[in-house]
Amino acid sequence: MIKIRGLKKRFGTNEVLKGIDLDVKKGEVLSVIGASGSGKSTLLYCINGLEPIQDGYIEVDDTRVHDRNTNVNLLRQKLGMVFQQWNSFPHLTALENVALAPRIVRKKSKREAQEIAKKQLSHVGLGDKLDAYPNSLSGGQQQRLAIARALAMEPEYMLFDEATSALDPELVGEVLDTMRLLADEGMTMICVTHEMGFAKDVSDRVAYFHQGILEEVGPPSQIFGNPTSEHTKKFLSKTR
Ligand code: ATP
Ligand code: MG
Repeated sequence: MIKIRGLKKRFGTNEVLKGIDLDVKKGEVLSVIGASGSGKSTLLYCINGLEPIQDGYIEVDDTRVHDRNTNVNLLRQKLGMVFQQWNSFPHLTALENVALAPRIVRKKSKREAQEIAKKQLSHVGLGDKLDAYPNSLSGGQQQRLAIARALAMEPEYMLFDEATSALDPELVGEVLDTMRLLADEGMTMICVTHEMGFAKDVSDRVAYFHQGILEEVGPPSQIFGNPTSEHTKKFLSKTR
């Protein structure tokens, strides 16, 4: 479980997270929505320890992310992350890209790492692209390759930061389908997304961020059907 209490994050004098309390339970899918600049990406970077925080705490399975004694590199192995832009190595094949972290970080044998890579590439529907170089893949395939790379580390949580935002519209569906598959398999996921259909259909809960505040969180039926906050209502009226 991910437990966030009183989280405050500043960049200089700009307080971008103003005291966040949030739990994400094992197996839960949380979608995070909100306007540009509301702090959604920053929240993910704080969760995996890429950004220091000023107040409060974040626990991942009872380990405090920002504690001096925490081995952040070890903790990050539990947290797979997929960004807006694919970030695979262009000089490595799909198989080599996915096998890299198991080999180097997990110290698997070459054969084991390749088996893991094959398994995860099939998992995301790229079983026929093992030898393809990233540049020869479509944007949607590259993004699924990024998901396979994250999964190859056998994470317990997956954090998605607008994984489909940079894609041509016709390629969005295949990536959302892959995310939906992971959700159905029981993966714990935090998905920052502009895809309201995904948020509505796939998530257990939706969190609406407004200017660094967790304005409202609840099941999709509440957030989309009966939001209590005026800010949430206004945001949703603009996105539909
Ligand atoms: P978007 O939907 O555009 O991705 P977001 O909700 O993800 O927006 P963040 O990227 O978390 O928003 O940014 C929140 C605030 O923090 C913004 O005001 C942004 O300018 C500021 N910010 C983010 N990263 C940094 C940084 N590295 N240094 C300084 N300010 C930053
Ligand atoms: Mg962002």
